[in-house]
Amino acid sequence: MIRYSYENLLPVDKNGFYGEFGGAFIPESLKSNLEELESAFRKYIADPEFQAEFERLLRDYVGRPSPLYHAESLSRIYGAQIYLKREDLNHTGAHKINNAIGLGLLAKRMGKDRLIAETGAGQHGVAAATVAALLGMKCTVYMGAEDVRRQQPNVMRMKMLGAEVVAVDAGNATLNNAVDAALNAWVKNPDDAFYLIGSAVGPHPYPEIVARFQSVISFEMKKQLKEQIGRENPDYVVAAIGGGSNAAGAFYHFIDEASVNLIAAEAAGKGADSGETAASISLGSTAVLHGSRTKVLVGENGDLKEAYSISAGLDYPGIGPLQAYLASIGRTRIVLADDKEALAAAFQLARTEGIIPALESSHALAALAKLDLREDDVVVVNLSGRGDKDMDTYMKILSE
Ligand SMILES: *Cc1c(COP(=O)(O)O)cnc(C)c1O
Repeated sequence: MIRYSYENLLPVDKNGFYGEFGGAFIPESLKSNLEELESAFRKYIADPEFQAEFERLLRDYVGRPSPLYHAESLSRIYGAQIYLKREDLNHTGAHKINNAIGLGLLAKRMGKDRLIAETGAGQHGVAAATVAALLGMKCTVYMGAEDVRRQQPNVMRMKMLGAEVVAVDAGNATLNNAVDAALNAWVKNPDDAFYLIGSAVGPHPYPEIVARFQSVISFEMKKQLKEQIGRENPDYVVAAIGGGSNAAGAFYHFIDEASVNLIAAEAAGKGADSGETAASISLGSTAVLHGSRTKVLVGENGDLKEAYSISAGLDYPGIGPLQAYLASIGRTRIVLADDKEALAAAFQLARTEGIIPALESSHALAALAKLDLREDDVVVVNLSGRGDKDMDTYMKILSE
């Protein structure tokens, strides 16, 4: 059984700042919720019983460790040694379950009986509803009314798992508005409810907590690389970034390893100059979004600008503070991948390796063509999720 590491290796100060990014820009009414969360997190993350239960569920329920697969066809195509970290094989189909289990266990220890979550495409909503069912808790998922219409299969999964799905009509009725509604619901029920956030975003301490629960990904990578190639560190780690949680997990144990190139693939949508993108690091301004100072897409009038990507999991107008910081100091390199490139990468993986990836993960795969790779370079792509949820989009291409 893999014992994980619970050290805090993040470049974060006690107020939750990663350089100039992060912090907790919140109304007074949320202060005590966040303080209670932080002290419970610090207590339980160091508690051997909590750690043992987290590890047991990751192993027996999620199916960890997820395999590290040497993709021979992709390796030939790109002229390097390409490995896929198979988060797509996790229960519920993506990396989000790692964090949902960690936060769910924390909520239970804190005596809460109801989980509140927001969701865009529904992947995090399904992970939250799953954990609520597993731990015997109630679950309310806030989802933009527009997303409820677009993502019916996931809405039905959440309902089958016993969650209540609340359609949010405010604004343009997508993820951004769902986050506001979930935060409001939390303020109103601080005693019995727990806000189960879906990415490494939001006010401190959420970005830190999510990154640390997801750090199991790079912890396993190191062990698996050591076993398979005799060294722990690859030359590259590549991950797609929406809010930045799978990237945080995939980069975590390599942040201080200067020889490892960390590549973050941002969704360019219809193109960096098209005005329809989700490239918040490349094109954003520094502003506060959902309680955290970070890189945010803004319009000409300085207002928040809606993000666009073919991938619902990447079309968030901000980015977690860790990723904003790592890019600002040059520790990560940002590579843009647009809708077409991501789709091509998805079909390439399906047809050369027999794996149908999530559209989000396909942006990381699309970054491979933009790296200057050598034959003996070891490249790990974090395959964050599977493509079942994206079959409608893929079918449209097939019928063209
Ligand atoms: C939600 C999601 C993402 C994007 O979220 P991050 O927090 O940036 O990881 C990426 N891949 C998949 C499969 C997702 O479901």
